[in-house]
Amino acid sequence: MPKAIGVDIGGTKILSAVIDEKGNIVKSLRVPSEGREGREKILSHLYEAIEGVLMNDIEGIGIGTAGQVDPDTGMIVTATPNLKDWAGTPLKDIIEERFNLPTYVDNDGNVAALGEWWAGGGRGARCLLCLTIGTGIGSGIIYNGKVFRGAKGVGAELGHMSIKYDGIRCNCGGVGCIEAYASGPALIRRLQEKGKSITTPEEIQRCAESGDKIVLEAIEEIGTLLGYATVSFINIFNPDIILLSGGVSNLGDFLINPIRKVVDTYALPGGRDVKITRATLGEQAGVVGASALVFLKGAK
Ligand SMILES: [Zn+2]
Repeated sequence: MPKAIGVDIGGTKILSAVIDEKGNIVKSLRVPSEGREGREKILSHLYEAIEGVLMNDIEGIGIGTAGQVDPDTGMIVTATPNLKDWAGTPLKDIIEERFNLPTYVDNDGNVAALGEWWAGGGRGARCLLCLTIGTGIGSGIIYNGKVFRGAKGVGAELGHMSIKYDGIRCNCGGVGCIEAYASGPALIRRLQEKGKSITTPEEIQRCAESGDKIVLEAIEEIGTLLGYATVSFINIFNPDIILLSGGVSNLGDFLINPIRKVVDTYALPGGRDVKITRATLGEQAGVVGASALVFLKGAK
């Protein structure tokens, strides 16, 4: 059966896997990325990640990476300090030259969404939105089997939908972005403001499950804000399904119920029947979606 290598590059780790054309993981590997050490370090770990899973009959290499990517040239356009000096890296050219295999590079949010559509919780969807809520809010949109990327490939950044024009300054330089209100760090900050010093998602989860009022209130507040952003997403895109992934999504119904409530009240009625649920591939969405880039020739 045809196989591809899928790679997911984050600030602290690189995941790689060989995946068959049905989406099954044949072999996988995890290496550090040491993203703050700069481009050469990241590349050397990336080679290690690919070489560690390389086998016969590989059709190509798909890569999802944090940062904005030009999907036509496979060039990294911008990146955060978590991947230092990553901007300006001609990643597709470098990998094709080294491994002599067709290579596709895309933003990690797009790739995760593609993975969920191709082999996860979004199979069969006509219009799928996937929000990865963790340190930031990544996102991807799949429409008619293709990744929606905009004119230069850098669109679909739903996490930077502003919900408040005089709100909190976001890491992107914008103001009032939903990422600044509903990411993992934003939830922890909100809890601190309420006098709760909780630092891990697992602890938040435990407190929520044991009925801790303050924790439940904080989750409901960020869920409500996510709900207002989601209303806009629904009115613009009319998705049939919205999938939530990333650490914060593990809060499940504690988070989804307040989103649902706002959506059922304020979204334009025609789009309210959207399914809102947790993604199913978890941490594997990136490598699965990256391999789908190969099988679907970039999903353009
Ligand atoms: Zn922003």
